[in-house]
Amino acid sequence: MSGKGAGVPRTVIVVGAGIVGLSTAWFLQRYGVGVTVVERDTVASGASWGNAGWIAPGLTIPLNDPAVLGHGVRAVLDPRAPLSIPPTTDTGLLAFLGAFAFHSRRSTWEHALHGNVPLSSASLDAFTELVEAGVGRHDGPKVEDAPVTALFSSEKRAAHLLMELDQVRAAGLPLSYAALDREAVRAGSPFVSDAVRAGVRIDGQRHVHPGLFTHALADAVRARGGSVVEGFRVTGVEARGGGFRLRSAHGETESADAVVVATGAWLGRQGRPWGVTVPLRAGRGYSFTVPTAGPVPGPLYLPEARVACTPLATGLRVAGTMEFRDIDAPLSPDRIAAISASAAPYLTGVDLADRTDAWVGSRPVTADGLPVVGATRIPGLYVAGGHGMWGFTQGPATGRLLARAVATGTPPASLRPFDPLR
Ligand SMILES: Cc1cc2nc3c(=O)[nH]c(=O)nc-3n(C[C@H](O)[C@H](O)[C@H](O)COP(=O)(O)OP(=O)(O)OC[C@H]3O[C@@H](n4cnc5c(N)ncnc54)[C@H](O)[C@@H]3O)c2cc1C
Repeated sequence: MSGKGAGVPRTVIVVGAGIVGLSTAWFLQRYGVGVTVVERDTVASGASWGNAGWIAPGLTIPLNDPAVLGHGVRAVLDPRAPLSIPPTTDTGLLAFLGAFAFHSRRSTWEHALHGNVPLSSASLDAFTELVEAGVGRHDGPKVEDAPVTALFSSEKRAAHLLMELDQVRAAGLPLSYAALDREAVRAGSPFVSDAVRAGVRIDGQRHVHPGLFTHALADAVRARGGSVVEGFRVTGVEARGGGFRLRSAHGETESADAVVVATGAWLGRQGRPWGVTVPLRAGRGYSFTVPTAGPVPGPLYLPEARVACTPLATGLRVAGTMEFRDIDAPLSPDRIAAISASAAPYLTGVDLADRTDAWVGSRPVTADGLPVVGATRIPGLYVAGGHGMWGFTQGPATGRLLARAVATGTPPASLRPFDPLR
């Protein structure tokens, strides 16, 4: 490989213009690396567009919680359940679900929790670094500081989240939170209905319009001399002459010393030739926007319905569902209606019938609750993805760590649990 020293590249192609790929590109530029980001569609056309936009390290609880398995059984029986697993003969999906069930044990969940803590702990600081360097400053979306308030139908149900937060804090993530009684919840937000009997306030979290932030990041990469090429769907990655040549579906090519593949939920189909066999599937989620009777002070979390609500300039974004279906399947209006119906009992002053911006996107979910970030078995070819429910929160911190690994040739210790070849 050509470069400044053994294994250190001067130029890198990043595949995928989502939050993870663009963060990696931005932080690589800090090391003087020339970057080209290639994207099959447009910037933020994957999961980074319509997600809930929470930068919420305090809630980055791995999905392979043994309790989720119970939801899985309900999901097979009830098409309106927040976790949706339609009957399938897709052997890849069945193998993934088997691996997910295998990893949904106390010990593996704790392993995933401890592996994620250093990344989550760095996530607010990584966003701060981007914002202070000017990302989104000109007409871009503002990153807002506000607690997330979780709403429950009973104190008993709130206790489960409090227990999980205790575990997150015990695992080393600095975190402040408080149990709220029904009066305190309602005093905090006029949009909470009478059915809510208890709450939990998780302090020190942030939120932003995720798609607009991702666009601002692409603009920043361009402004620093990088290029972002849209409509370039990579169909071939060829190692040649100490570097790489990538080919698009239309026959264009791009060459560089090294490559980072950050293709979100698509990575599950692409990584095998490079030795990346960690099971990874699309956990599809939906969102839509509704008007409210006034400004909503901060994000509302409905854990019983598995719904996240985020105040954005355009209204309240309501997001939910985990649907294990083909990544390219069309949006299902039934799922949108099911999210709306499940959120309704907890909210007041929110017009859930007046829905706009209906969207479906795919979380990159790994079976073991850990992202895949680092070197593959092809020297100079890296992958970054698999953050599941929390890729927006963890994207900039991931990009910062991986850029260091790529640009210096020395992977930081906190990437170790995410070894793509595990
Ligand atoms: C409903 C919902 C709510 C969510 N809420 C939150 C939240 O509040 N906070 C949070 O932290 N996370 C949240 N997430 C998760 C978060 O959205 C994802 O984890 C994150 O966006 C993943 O980012 P990414 O860059 O890895 O993938 P993506 O954003 O999907 O980007 C991958 C890109 O790669 C491109 N690509 C794929 N194949 C190719 C190819 N062959 N050639 C070129 N380009 C290619 C795709 O077009 C895409 O643009 C949510 C997800 C959903 C679905």
